[in-house]
Amino acid sequence: MSLIIRHARVRNQKETVDIAIEGEKISAVAVNLPSSAPNEIDAGGNLVLPGLFNLHYHADKCLLGEIMRPNVSGTLPEAIEITNDFKRSYDPVEVAARAVRTLEQGVKNGTTFFRLFCDVGTIGGLRAARGLLLAREKMKDYCRIQVVAFPQEGIVRDPGAAELMEEAIKEGCDVVGGLPWYEYTDDEARRHIDICFGMAIKHDLDIHMLVDDTDDPNSRSLEYLALKTMREGFQGRVAASHCGAMAAYNDVYAAKVVDMVATAGITISVNAHINLVCSARLDREPRRRGIARVKELLARGVNVATSQDDVNDPYYPFGKPDPLECALMMAHVAQLTLPHELEAVMDMITVNPARAARVADYGIAAGMRADLVVVGAPSVHEALRLQPPRLHVFKDGREVARSVLTQELLSHRASS
Ligand SMILES: [Zn+2]
Repeated sequence: MSLIIRHARVRNQKETVDIAIEGEKISAVAVNLPSSAPNEIDAGGNLVLPGLFNLHYHADKCLLGEIMRPNVSGTLPEAIEITNDFKRSYDPVEVAARAVRTLEQGVKNGTTFFRLFCDVGTIGGLRAARGLLLAREKMKDYCRIQVVAFPQEGIVRDPGAAELMEEAIKEGCDVVGGLPWYEYTDDEARRHIDICFGMAIKHDLDIHMLVDDTDDPNSRSLEYLALKTMREGFQGRVAASHCGAMAAYNDVYAAKVVDMVATAGITISVNAHINLVCSARLDREPRRRGIARVKELLARGVNVATSQDDVNDPYYPFGKPDPLECALMMAHVAQLTLPHELEAVMDMITVNPARAARVADYGIAAGMRADLVVVGAPSVHEALRLQPPRLHVFKDGREVARSVLTQELLSHRASS
């Protein structure tokens, strides 16, 4: 074997274990492995997780905050308008350079899988797609990347977008995106979903849509997305992000939709950061938060993920990006604070998005891909609380990032 990580704390196991890695795979996980390897790392009783996920990230827009005019209203429509000004003249090389800067930071924070959304439409054409496909190529030794062809201006209301999405898929996009709630009418939202399914079936690709990202209780495209998923036999192949309108639905309708989502095997990806900032800008007090009904989804067995939607762009001015920060934010907005709920939160940046992306060889066990992160804390609770540095990050059994930061309290106490 090529590498052993000693004294690793893995979830749901009392004793620390040693993790042996041979090439790109984990070859053994056991207490006190007797064998040795040319490269050994002592995790020192710290938590070791499989590589973290960011399942929903608009890397084409990242860091526009460094050069844009401010989003005065703080709303999604103004964010879209500001971005459009840049999109008209995007240079794919420049898009890739911005994306790579934040992807590198994400890797340092333990992210080994990103699902990137590139705007595809008549305003920016294929420029953003080409930028993110280039970023994927540049980052291939550090992380796995899927690129979603995402119709940010809609499909029916942006004639030509569907054809451009087809082109983006031909050029290498992996997932069919969607934004049905942004269409002008309910009928057109359904047509939007139908068009996306047509593409996904034709190219045998999965689907990830941004759904009902509004406070309007009449925004109901999730219901039709679930129905279509069942009818087309796409269970387990569809993810829906945001779904904030669910919070505004009446309880009876919400329960029906949650049940349909569960039956359809749809993953709900909650992007708490951006919704806390952008949603309910028209509310007086109390303000709603635009967050899907996470506890009800979990209770019904729905696969829930949480991810970093935006990093310093017209939609959201912060973002490290760091999945652990997303998990902490999720624990707050969904009020998940009990020990088993903290475990559920950790699942949302690890096993749940892995299931959504259908990554089969994911986890800490013999035969799994050696994408691992050594977190500078001994438990899930402490990892969430302290947001500690990621001591070592591995992709395919190779160390791709490490932390060398030290913090010390200096002695100034008077001696007695
Ligand atoms: Zn988004």
